[in-house]
Amino acid sequence: MVQPEHDIALQDTDRLQGRAALVNNVKAAVALAGAVRSTLGPRGLDKMLVDSDGSSLVTNDGVTVLETAQIEHPTARLLIAASASQDKVARDGTTTTVVLTAELLQNALEMVRSGIHPSIVINGYGIAQDECLSELEGLSRVPSSQEEVRSVVSTSLAGKIGESLAGHLTGLATEAAELLSGEEGGDDLERLRVKRLPISGGSSTDTELVNGLVVAKTRFDRVTPSSSDGGRVAVIDGGLEGSKLEIDAEIEIRTAGVLQGFHKRVTENLQNQVDRLSSLGVDLLIVRDGISDEAVSMLREAGITAYRRFERNDMEMASRITGSQIVRDVVSLGNDDVGSYSSRSETVTAGVTYTRIDGGEGGAMTVLIRGSSPQIREECERAFDDALGVAFRLTRDSRMLPGGGATQTHLARHLRTFAPTNKGREQIAIEGYAAALEVIPRTLAENAGLSPIDEVLELSASQISDSKNGSWIGLNAWNGEKAHMDGLGVLDPLFVVSNSISGATEAAISVLRINDVLWAKQDPMTPDWKDEEDQED
Ligand code: ADP
Ligand code: MG
Repeated sequence: MVQPEHDIALQDTDRLQGRAALVNNVKAAVALAGAVRSTLGPRGLDKMLVDSDGSSLVTNDGVTVLETAQIEHPTARLLIAASASQDKVARDGTTTTVVLTAELLQNALEMVRSGIHPSIVINGYGIAQDECLSELEGLSRVPSSQEEVRSVVSTSLAGKIGESLAGHLTGLATEAAELLSGEEGGDDLERLRVKRLPISGGSSTDTELVNGLVVAKTRFDRVTPSSSDGGRVAVIDGGLEGSKLEIDAEIEIRTAGVLQGFHKRVTENLQNQVDRLSSLGVDLLIVRDGISDEAVSMLREAGITAYRRFERNDMEMASRITGSQIVRDVVSLGNDDVGSYSSRSETVTAGVTYTRIDGGEGGAMTVLIRGSSPQIREECERAFDDALGVAFRLTRDSRMLPGGGATQTHLARHLRTFAPTNKGREQIAIEGYAAALEVIPRTLAENAGLSPIDEVLELSASQISDSKNGSWIGLNAWNGEKAHMDGLGVLDPLFVVSNSISGATEAAISVLRINDVLWAKQDPMTPDWKDEEDQED
């Protein structure tokens, strides 16, 4: 008999279908969540990640763990993508997203085992998610003081770094976020406009924010002044060199006369460019490429201090803070392209010269990351990155929610009263969703060395006992007390929590939709699915 075409195409694959596919996928999700759940919360443990080349990284950050691990399972990769997207959108809540997705899947599997069709679970989860998102809006409130804003930012650093550094970085991040708050731009703005410059030596708490541009460079000609109180600046996306074109053309230079004539033209050309800069009042020149040696004396005479081999990003920052336009070469420079800077200075730290340029336009700054070793500086930079990401987003939406599992406990309680208002089996799925949300307070308790079951029960009871503000009562992971999270300053941004809820729900639903998994044969990652089926049946 002739085989149907699609069967032929499947010859080289192993196939997992229906329940076996679901079991396998949920197992992968749970295994992945297991790798990061111990990092959740302020008392979460650090993970040490070792690369194949032997280099290592100690981190408490869920997304770092996941992105570094080499994980092949398609479901696990889907969860990693959800956590990476959480990182991109909200800069925080990555561990929460993975842990919640795995719990949603585990509860879904239980429901499926008890005879509920996955499509019902998917519907119920969708309804529960929508209800949660609107409930969160009601529960959230705007910070009543700058102090509360700082608490939200420092909550995102809890457990990642020491308390005094967390306080210091929170201050820098909120200040930088304030300075950026009027600027237009997308989600990545705070990464594009705040340069991070690691400088060796000092302690992490010496990390400072400079409202200007700092580059690890010194001026081209050491005879020109090392500092200035301001002036006019040109930023050139090229060099200041004599015309190379003619040399490239390999003209035959046979007689001394031709050579001299050639040099003369090059010199004239350079002089014309320097004259042009002079006539535009430029006293600070920044170029991306080189500056020819012949230009040194010309620039010196014209009173122009020059910097060469600037990175593209640094040029863009220089252009932004000084209001200058980057042009291709000096010849095309017009008066409107020239910007103004308010000061320039050079300092030497640990044997490296750094130049700082300030401008009146703002919109870009530099953070000088300090620390005695590269690892310490990297850790400090990662923490600052998180803090700034959160602080910047708070300037766009400042609404906040109680942390310490309070929000998820409230949502679970709410969903349990909401579930019966729905008809059909979806009710059960909504209750399953409610139970899954409690994985957050449960894990926070577990990581704090407390009993997860008792803590979740007590938390619920405490919330109910205070009819006015009870939903803001959460778990203080440091001492196990149930406390109002606004009083304690443990606060999560609304955008972090709502994103992790929608991201986790979406990821769980897309795994539940998979009914058929095809694995390429000979793939070492092909699961031993025959086992799964045996267990299932
Ligand atoms: P994520 O990667 O999901 O942000 P974290 O390890 O940063 O994971 O943990 C975040 C969780 O820790 C949030 O639910 C937050 O409310 C909670 N949290 C932070 N500080 C405390 C605290 N002092 N007590 C209890 N929970 C806290
Ligand atoms: Mg966090």
